[in-house]
Amino acid sequence: MPATQWGERMTFADLANKGILTQPIYEAGKPIDQVARELGLDPAGIIKLASNENPFGPSPKAVAAGERALREANLYPDGGYYALRQKLAQKWSLGMDQFIIGDGSNEILELLGHAFLSPGVECVMHQSSFIVYKLVTLMFGATPVEVPLVNMRQDLKTLAAAITPRTRLVFIGSPSNPVGVANTQAELDEFLQALPPQVILVFDEAYAEYLENAPDLRPMIAAGRKVICLRTFSKIYGLASLRVGYGYAAPELIAIVQRARQPFNVNGVAVAAAIAALDDHEFVTQCLRENRAGLRQLESALKKLGLAFVPGTGNFVLAKVGDGMRVFTALQQRGIITRPVKPYGLPEWLRITVGTSAQNERLIVALTEILPG
Ligand SMILES: *Cc1c(COP(=O)(O)O)cnc(C)c1O
Repeated sequence: MPATQWGERMTFADLANKGILTQPIYEAGKPIDQVARELGLDPAGIIKLASNENPFGPSPKAVAAGERALREANLYPDGGYYALRQKLAQKWSLGMDQFIIGDGSNEILELLGHAFLSPGVECVMHQSSFIVYKLVTLMFGATPVEVPLVNMRQDLKTLAAAITPRTRLVFIGSPSNPVGVANTQAELDEFLQALPPQVILVFDEAYAEYLENAPDLRPMIAAGRKVICLRTFSKIYGLASLRVGYGYAAPELIAIVQRARQPFNVNGVAVAAAIAALDDHEFVTQCLRENRAGLRQLESALKKLGLAFVPGTGNFVLAKVGDGMRVFTALQQRGIITRPVKPYGLPEWLRITVGTSAQNERLIVALTEILPG
């Protein structure tokens, strides 16, 4: 940077930290109102199958608890999140000191960056995995190392082979997003047993509630393996807008990540809603059942249309539609927002969230119109 004197022109960009100007920006699924504005459509007629949100709304118990908590919005929340951590400790049979609460599980990804990443260290992840892994890595000046998928599957041997002495974090989605594949318990156990001591596995379980036979890494945590599991209330609990997630790991790891956290990082309304949502088993069971039916509905339609797809393990399907951007645009013109995954290196694919059966049907009809033959 040139030497400066008072009055000399200096832009904000000149003042910015190294890296921030080239930091990629996360592109979220488009909000309904934005699409309505851009295309001159009635927002009431638009459906969003773009961000893997719960089409059945929030848990009603969570809404009631959140409304009650809103009346105490003048008070700071319990910054230690005692009640939520206690509830989670019961649910998972772990210690309260094994939980950290985040402003969405995305915040915990960032806190891990604060705690463990710096220039010179590497983070290993699969190609076409959740883009926030790469964003957090770059944000802290660390280097992302991306490993190819093998036939759209996450091969943990390939992943392990990319680990070097500089590796600090490895990210695995279970299931992954946007691809929607998951590894078996045996694959994960083997991977963790061979994990070198300088590496922490970040095991992202945002959609684990939807998985049949979700792997359980608690025995590995208890055995001293370096892993943190991340969960969220944004998906099956239907609380995406409230921004609350959590991580569980060894107490020693949690204590370090807690140091990077702001005192009141999650608001009291969100926490109250999350606690109530954990008790709403009926809602979760219902959403799970509807999601499975929706997956079958979408997948049988994709088969009829002759499209390849990755069988859904979460609440979304990745379908090979040819030109993903074209189909995305054509669907959007019909008031259906999906997610093109070109930024994930998958230009031929489209990610479709499982909606209500009526929403799924609308998508199927539109796809049938759009696709040739
Ligand atoms: C949705 C999602 C999350 C959850 O993010 P929140 O910040 O908790 O809303 C985390 N990881 C993946 C892969 C996701 O798709």
